[in-house]
Amino acid sequence: MVSINRRGGCKAAPGTGYESPRAAKQYEVMNPAVQPSRTAVLAALDRVRDPKSGQGLAAAGLVQGLSLGEGRVGFMLEVSATEAALYAPVRDAAEKALLTIGGVQKAQVVLTTASPAPAPGVTRVRRGASVAPDAKADTAGLPPGERLANVHRVIAVASGKGGVGKSTVAANLACAFARLGLRTGLLDADIYGPSAPRMMGLAAQPEFEDGKLNPLQAWGVKVMSIGFLVDEGAPMIWRGPMASSAMRQMIQDVRWGTDDDPLDLLVVDLPPGTGDIHLTLIQKLAVDGVVIVSTPQEIALIDARRASAMFNKMNPPVTILGVVENMAFFPDPATGAPIPIFGQGGARTEAARLAVPFLGEIPIDIPLRQGADEGRPLVATAPESATARLFMEIARRLRDSA
Ligand code: ADP
Repeated sequence: MVSINRRGGCKAAPGTGYESPRAAKQYEVMNPAVQPSRTAVLAALDRVRDPKSGQGLAAAGLVQGLSLGEGRVGFMLEVSATEAALYAPVRDAAEKALLTIGGVQKAQVVLTTASPAPAPGVTRVRRGASVAPDAKADTAGLPPGERLANVHRVIAVASGKGGVGKSTVAANLACAFARLGLRTGLLDADIYGPSAPRMMGLAAQPEFEDGKLNPLQAWGVKVMSIGFLVDEGAPMIWRGPMASSAMRQMIQDVRWGTDDDPLDLLVVDLPPGTGDIHLTLIQKLAVDGVVIVSTPQEIALIDARRASAMFNKMNPPVTILGVVENMAFFPDPATGAPIPIFGQGGARTEAARLAVPFLGEIPIDIPLRQGADEGRPLVATAPESATARLFMEIARRLRDSA
């Protein structure tokens, strides 16, 4: 897979007169960032013609990996290698079209091309390599709701917004479940920024055995991450068929357990936000329940609300096991008194509003952050610390909620 990357995104459409920083600010004020509707986005993209079929881009099936966020839209335009030059102006036109939608301040369309099929019999995963001889550009192939082989329970960790500590919570909860004696796996499906390799301290690559990938092991947890399978660096959502085929493999082809030694619990670190990719993952992984991570402030809660609405709307609805408030407060170094840096109690109130359990609050904790950066999860390395105990308590509640 070859990804034609370029610096994507701009604050205001070229030619709008808002290119200077000051004018761009003015533009932003006049166009507050809101998440555009899917319908508006597809309609705008249909106004851009596919030079080959003459159809609009959406109608021609050229809009892949559509990602909607507050003030932001992105997708990948996947074409064959010989057509890249033909589609470069189409990409530019698509970005311009997206920037005409009210509230959209940043548009990113990445042109990707598929590499030739890998040689048959590829058995070892290499970073950035095609990962399977039969890799396809979608996650299809698993009937919806089919349970993962030898996995008893699947809990997904979700957040409406990035940067709230979803992956930190997922990694430490996985370690907490392992400490409770559960045979635990961690599936890092955050294609926007896989962090399990770093947080769990894993640099090796998984190997194929009899057509299945063996997860790596760290801190008593079996770990599989999309970060093991695709190049680090470029945002992975844009890596086209490679990301899709890696996702498909992670859903179908991981040996989490055996008949004799199944996994009790798989923790899935979902990508942040609400999009097609989430629906696909939740459905195909047959997720039993979701934990929503939010910080206490309103902006994160609005996104958490959106995420919970998505889970409720799914058919069948996915059980929301509860809300974890992360970065709930900063303990005053002198007195230990909580300093509410991001506000106070918002996630607890939100859990009550959604009528779902409030699972607990995790403070801003420097050793927790350091542990995540160094590949030494706090729960595994300092299980007696106050914050690790909070994770253990949340893990117990989740274990008992089955
Ligand atoms: P997300 O998965 O939501 O994008 P991460 O788990 O990657 O967020 O966390 C973002 C950053 O915040 C990381 O550097 C992480 O170490 C740090 N972090 C997360 N939770 C806490 C916390 N409770 N206290 C201190 N730092 C935290």
